[in-house]
Amino acid sequence: MKTIAVKVVVLGSQGVGKTSLVTRYETKSFHRKSSSTIGASFSNVDILLEGTKVKMQVWDTAGQERFRSMAPMYYRGANAALLIFDLSNYVTFTDIQSWVSELKSRVGEGLMLVLVGNKQDLVDDRVVKNATAQDYADSIGATFLETSALDNTGVQEMFNIVAVEMFKRADKEENSSLRVYSPDGKNQRNENTSNVKLSEIPVLEERNKCC
Ligand code: GDP
Ligand code: MG
Repeated sequence: MKTIAVKVVVLGSQGVGKTSLVTRYETKSFHRKSSSTIGASFSNVDILLEGTKVKMQVWDTAGQERFRSMAPMYYRGANAALLIFDLSNYVTFTDIQSWVSELKSRVGEGLMLVLVGNKQDLVDDRVVKNATAQDYADSIGATFLETSALDNTGVQEMFNIVAVEMFKRADKEENSSLRVYSPDGKNQRNENTSNVKLSEIPVLEERNKCC
């Protein structure tokens, strides 16, 4: 099977739910008391798209996000960044700007950006409007979506968006930073394979017009 290897980095202020989102996808569960991440960690998320395996190595922060500066190894070779903020905490939304400028100085052109407003379930505490976040996403060339690690909203979709874009880029064969290989490589830990048909991926523009 054709395989595309992709590195995805997860960024955002402490407490926005980065680890919860990755854990939710990996284990299909939510742990209310997630401990802050210790040590550099990544997990593998595999999505099958029309006979191609998109193998995403998803890097969660090791708590360095407190210092607003990540180790160089964190960014090295990244193809996509998930920029997570908390919809119920405005500062975490404005904080995204500093992550974007850090990314611009550390990673070259062609990095896919996905802006993610998490904790969508906290409806009464919400302080960041969908349109505000969407406008900001447009201004930085990012895709925007809302998620809840708690009730498992948008989590699969978040990874699908990255997988589909990487699939398209590899198809164009323009992006030399994508490693495309065949057949399958070695077994890896935390194997998570979902089979997704391109036609089943919801159209984002239609989904996000709600509020
Ligand atoms: P990180 O520092 O960005 O990795 O954030 P964590 O994943 O450790 O989550 C921080 C806190 O937010 C924890 O208490 C989580 O239980 C909580 N949390 C994470 N995601 C959600 C969510 O979607 N909804 C709600 N209500 N709480 C969340
Ligand atoms: Mg964490």
